[in-house]
Amino acid sequence: MKIEVLGACASVCFLLDGEILIEGGIPGFILCPEKLAGIRWVLITHAHFDHIDGLPMLAESLYGVSDRPLMIAGVAPVIDAIHTHLFNEVLWPDFSKIRNPAGHPTVVFHPLEEGRANPIGRYRITPIHVNHIVPTVGYLIEDGDSAFVISGDTYATDRIWQMASKTPNLKAALIECTFSNQAKELAEVSRHLTPELVRAEFRKLLNPSLPLYLYHMKPNHLDRIREEHARYRDGGILLEDGMTIVVS
Ligand SMILES: [Zn+2]
Ligand SMILES: [Zn+2]
Repeated sequence: MKIEVLGACASVCFLLDGEILIEGGIPGFILCPEKLAGIRWVLITHAHFDHIDGLPMLAESLYGVSDRPLMIAGVAPVIDAIHTHLFNEVLWPDFSKIRNPAGHPTVVFHPLEEGRANPIGRYRITPIHVNHIVPTVGYLIEDGDSAFVISGDTYATDRIWQMASKTPNLKAALIECTFSNQAKELAEVSRHLTPELVRAEFRKLLNPSLPLYLYHMKPNHLDRIREEHARYRDGGILLEDGMTIVVS
């Protein structure tokens, strides 16, 4: 699997194999029309704005570019929040009611079952609740050959790491790292991680050689996070826009 890092920090978005956006941050809709046309699914971890702020323009951009609906997928409370509060005919039209020139809805809100592998194309997508201030999941994503886990926004949590540890061919972990170690109280109240807390979560995966990627750094904490991160000797890469991860 190839993961293109479109938005690692302020507004989050990854592109999986040119087909599936993971998170709907603004960088997702700035893609060129050829790349946009290949996107069928967007997996959302939660309804905070830095994960969905590209969805309105993405829906509009895909109108007429793709005959197929854009499938916005997540667990039910997340999908409901996006539909109710964003595509609500006030902030933005309800694109699930607007048919594209091929006669299909421009957008379909697609609920995923939590804790179960949901088949999407050739992938098995398992949303797993994590520990944030609103309903949030991380994802375990498998194709036939390999798997990776992405945390979503979270504070200390267990179940996702337990399920990921049991997954055959787990090849990478993407873990959020929002604040610096100096802001650990802020991390606790806002339910986010710091470089130190990321290590504690990563150890729960029981595989010290697993490639670790950090993302979701707040831009105003990034320099300090980078300094702190450099002091750990166990590797781990701070993701930047434009990077590509190959999971195999
Ligand atoms: Zn959040
Ligand atoms: Zn966030």
